[in-house]
Amino acid sequence: MSRKPKVAIHKFSSCDGCQLAFLNLGEDLLALSRQVEIVHFAEAGPVNEEIPVDIAFVEGSISTPADRPRIEKIRHNSRFLITMGACATSGGIQALRNMADTNAWIGAIYARPDFIDSLDDSTAIARHVKVDFELWGCPVNSQQILSCVCALLSGVLPVDQHDSLCQQCKQQGLACLMVSQGLACLGPVTRAGCGALCPSLGRGCYGCYGPAENPNGPALAQRFMQLGLSAEETRRRFLFINSAAPAFNETGLKLPDAKPQGER
Ligand code: SF4
Ligand code: SF4
Ligand code: SF4
Repeated sequence: MSRKPKVAIHKFSSCDGCQLAFLNLGEDLLALSRQVEIVHFAEAGPVNEEIPVDIAFVEGSISTPADRPRIEKIRHNSRFLITMGACATSGGIQALRNMADTNAWIGAIYARPDFIDSLDDSTAIARHVKVDFELWGCPVNSQQILSCVCALLSGVLPVDQHDSLCQQCKQQGLACLMVSQGLACLGPVTRAGCGALCPSLGRGCYGCYGPAENPNGPALAQRFMQLGLSAEETRRRFLFINSAAPAFNETGLKLPDAKPQGER
């Protein structure tokens, strides 16, 4: 390819944390900018959303009526579309509203609910358009992004890490927190990729990288309850970041109805 491949970074409903992972590449970002031309990245400066690109990274979920035609146009203009982060891959934290009465929440929170134009649910990008590769995490880490771009520039799709986090934990020689300290950890059902960040710091995984391949959520939920968590606490652990990922939503446990404050 004689010209530099064009790259765009788009934002939908999200906190911007995954875009920051891009900026956190530091010197690697400068090296990357010699290989590709970043034509749209509103958080960093260039704005040109309509331009056709070789690689489009998409952060955030579809949660307003205007998001649907926008993501379709981005798909049309992109050779490869890569979603990055829990918001874009599963609907994110904001998908908790999928289990509640959205209009009741809007009425309870906003002084002028008539100004809010929101869908009843928050959904993953792949529910609306074809996605070529998904980068999981909340946030994704900078190395995932770099590896993804390098793979695409080499003409291959990135390697999909779908093993469980426990494997990365073992590779690092960490003692299992669940076995040695009785801490609830979602590692057995969560996909690898973060380098077992939380267990390496003595904290149980809370599942931000989404479900691993063939996760057994109901079995781990039973284990959490043997460790002393109530059924509600257990269910909330699974629903924290990736509530709309079916494997984390199907533990067989129920939550009390979610109602806005003021209606309780
Ligand atoms: S996945 Fe997490 S860090 Fe990334 S945009 Fe969504 S909320 Fe922010
Ligand atoms: S600490 Fe968590 S991730 Fe590590 S081996 Fe134990 S259950 Fe798996
Ligand atoms: S250990 Fe779990 S919660 Fe922590 S960064 Fe990794 S996937 Fe996310």
